[in-house]
Amino acid sequence: MKILVLNCGSSSLKYQLFNMDDESVMAKGLVEKIGLDGSVLIHQPEGMDKVRIETAIPDHGTAIELVVAALLDAKHGVIKDMKEIDAVGHRTIHGGTTFAESCVIDDKVMAEMERLTELAPLHNPPSILGIRACEQKIPGVKMVGVFDTAFHQTMPPSSYLYGLPYELYEKYQLRRFGFHGTSHRFVSARAIEIMGNPAHSKIITCHLGNGSSMAAVKDGKTIDTSMGFTPLEGVIMGTRSGDLDPAIIPFLMDKEGLDIAGVNALLNKKSGLLGISGVSSDMRDIENAAKEGNQRAQMALDVFKKTVLRYIGAYAAELDGVDMIVFTAGIGENGISTRKEICDNLHYLGVEFDEAANDCRGKEVEISKPGSKVRVFVIPTNEELMIARDTMALAGK
Ligand code: ADP
Repeated sequence: MKILVLNCGSSSLKYQLFNMDDESVMAKGLVEKIGLDGSVLIHQPEGMDKVRIETAIPDHGTAIELVVAALLDAKHGVIKDMKEIDAVGHRTIHGGTTFAESCVIDDKVMAEMERLTELAPLHNPPSILGIRACEQKIPGVKMVGVFDTAFHQTMPPSSYLYGLPYELYEKYQLRRFGFHGTSHRFVSARAIEIMGNPAHSKIITCHLGNGSSMAAVKDGKTIDTSMGFTPLEGVIMGTRSGDLDPAIIPFLMDKEGLDIAGVNALLNKKSGLLGISGVSSDMRDIENAAKEGNQRAQMALDVFKKTVLRYIGAYAAELDGVDMIVFTAGIGENGISTRKEICDNLHYLGVEFDEAANDCRGKEVEISKPGSKVRVFVIPTNEELMIARDTMALAGK
């Protein structure tokens, strides 16, 4: 079975074609600047050179057409007939309280996704565009939606309710949803497998990338997570503030003369690691600047580390103990010094950190010493494979 996985953004589209016989990637690629000047498709067939196709790509429909053409191409293609694509799995971001699992996309699901754009005005419309484009360009293909929020739907009200009037929760679904669920699910499932599939497990998953989130996973189910009603809450991120005193918002609107769009842009695009360091939103740049003595870059690193530690402490308490802590995503998989600095503060939990083992990037490694009361792992995430697996399971039915 061959599954095409699509992750549609407002002006970009990432894709991977999987051969599910062995879960290998046959080709992957990226369409950038859809609807903008300089649009381009970068196609990478497995074992061959990258192909760069610069052409006008006015909309997601054209982007899908180009992706299918690249997959079918006589030279750099990997399939002979579009019918070889058995199903398409879409990364659909916000599933609200409706979608606690992945599902086959039909008219009812589409109508619900449209309704949920109110909760995710930036994220859901591109997924919907991508689905509509596939309906047109790959007619009749079965499609599955895999929601970023779904895995966190097991949270109890004590984790998802904010301290706001309950009527507002009822009226607007103002509650914590959490995001990156596909990644937390992938790495926590792998962690449980590594532990030998025990009936009970307590895991803290740290998805630390451009966007970062933490999750407390008990017996394979999220009981709490750091992102909230939107992906702005929680750990400080590349350009997002993470947690702050909500009274700062009216204060800033007053003092800086900001409107709703202005304050949203400030919190989402100009804050976080970029805002504190003034250097970059990228961890590598900040680490380099800090090494060269940039104080603000060092402070950004310190705040990042502290927010992660705060959540580990909170989740260890909520879980009443921890069996395993997992680091994943760009910083979690590659940030050797970030991992070390975080783990250096976890002696109290019973973490015996293995500095030599930690000297690794992008692969599955145990970075705690044998016998450590709490085991610590780097587990590379693979959201695309998780989407492909769900798609195969559901589209095969
Ligand atoms: P996204 O949320 O965009 O998927 P990623 O998971 O790819 O983000 O993570 C991007 C982050 O990972 C960036 O801050 C980047 O600097 C960081 N990163 C990548 N490689 C390294 C590295 N070698 N050391 C430290 N940080 C790294």
